[in-house]
Amino acid sequence: MTRLPTFPVEGGCACGAVRYRLTKAPPFVYTCHCSDCQKLTTSAFTLSAPVARDTLEITQGTLKSWTRATTESGRPTDQHVCANCGVRIYSEPPQAPDRVTLRLGTLDDTSWLRPAAAIWMKSAQPWFIPTPDMLTFDKQPDDFARVAVRWREIMEDPQG
Ligand SMILES: [Zn+2]
Ligand SMILES: [Zn+2]
Repeated sequence: MTRLPTFPVEGGCACGAVRYRLTKAPPFVYTCHCSDCQKLTTSAFTLSAPVARDTLEITQGTLKSWTRATTESGRPTDQHVCANCGVRIYSEPPQAPDRVTLRLGTLDDTSWLRPAAAIWMKSAQPWFIPTPDMLTFDKQPDDFARVAVRWREIMEDPQG
């Protein structure tokens, strides 16, 4: 079991211009291995969570946005990045206007981030091996309900 931190928690971009506060725990954490995430991170995957819009407060700095038009999932997605250093803070999935997808590598404390699923495994780097806890999906799952259940099984909530 991994312990959830006490919320709110804070994070920010690499240059320090953008700071944010997340006031509530996300419903789950997952890795995305799609080719867009590999490009956008210049790495192998992103560590992300869907968070309700009203739980993410930008407390400092200016974000700029651009639209990734040709995503592997076929859905154009607005990316919100630090206007100065370009680090991606969150994106806006068009199918869910009430939430945003937070890029969790921007949190000040990343020690509690244990993903419950790996998605877009069909384009994952061949050396990536999910932990036994993680559900895996070839593409974007239609429904993340199982992922939320799995995350609650592997996380311990200090608030009970
Ligand atoms: Zn920055
Ligand atoms: Zn992705």
